[in-house]
Amino acid sequence: MPLAIDYADIEAAAHRLHGVAHRTPTFTSRTADDRTGAHLYFKCENLQRMGAFKFRGAYNALAQFSPAQRKKGAIAFSSGNHAQAIALAARLLGMPAAIVMPQDAPSMKIEATKGYGAEVILYDRYSQDREALGRQLAAERGMTLIPPYDHPHVMAGQGTAAKELIEQARALDPAHGALDVLVVCVGGGGLISGCAVAAKHLLPHCKVIGVEPEAGNDVQQSLRKGEIVHIDVPQTIADGAQTQHAGQLTFPVIRALVDDVVTVSDAQLVRTMRFFAERMKLVVEPTGCLAAAAVLEGVLGVRGKRVGVIVSGGNVDLRRYAELLLEGAQP
Ligand SMILES: *Cc1c(COP(=O)(O)O)cnc(C)c1O
Repeated sequence: MPLAIDYADIEAAAHRLHGVAHRTPTFTSRTADDRTGAHLYFKCENLQRMGAFKFRGAYNALAQFSPAQRKKGAIAFSSGNHAQAIALAARLLGMPAAIVMPQDAPSMKIEATKGYGAEVILYDRYSQDREALGRQLAAERGMTLIPPYDHPHVMAGQGTAAKELIEQARALDPAHGALDVLVVCVGGGGLISGCAVAAKHLLPHCKVIGVEPEAGNDVQQSLRKGEIVHIDVPQTIADGAQTQHAGQLTFPVIRALVDDVVTVSDAQLVRTMRFFAERMKLVVEPTGCLAAAAVLEGVLGVRGKRVGVIVSGGNVDLRRYAELLLEGAQP
């Protein structure tokens, strides 16, 4: 079975996104380099439109709708950032959008989704099956369901983040800018599968490492077992990675191209969030800290390496953000 996407799909996505998505900056940090003994390149998707890389995949998917699909619009089920991404992409492309969201999603994400003009339908994530609900609503309304990760157009769109990061790292250091390692957070695997396809095409020797929350290491388990493992909804502050299983399309790509998956704790995520705020002046949501935490907390040994780190998003309730930053801080 061929993989769901190849590098040509990512190049095509990059053309569709050109002038629509931000080419987000890639930042370096002396403090981070000193701490790890490595050269780190942080791809700041927290500065992407709507605050996360998800805009890339959503827009790449919706831009390929037929005229009939555009008329009825898009429907999505999402714990947050995918919702905002579909809502914004739909608005830019002039089509309706309906979003099925968990009742306990951060209120900022619910409000932002409504703010982009989408209809929001709430459900209970502990008792209702969102996929079944999404499919039923899609059938009733004739809308096209775009899942948050298990879709080739979504995966290809997300992969453009790694393509840009690799280009930007090279531009920052033309002599040595080829990355040795690319570190990417993992929820359902849309981001890492797209990024792995881009990285292994552009830099065949680059290792691709996934990072999951300790409490939700389903992809790590799946890789060890050789098949998709399902887990209960994990309890972690990384709400964008509370997925219960990898996708039918993303898992084969991960299995073929991702070298390893490691995990980090919530405490490590909080320390990394603080590092971004204090040292790099960046607001990063807990899920957005996964990849950086693995590197900065020493979970991954990267001494002497050139390391690309995807900072996946920056959408966090301000009250929650303040609480997490101050937790355990000296008065
Ligand atoms: C969705 C999301 C993830 C996980 O992405 P997958 O494609 O599901 O693996 C990570 N970080 C942020 C900020 C997200 O919104």
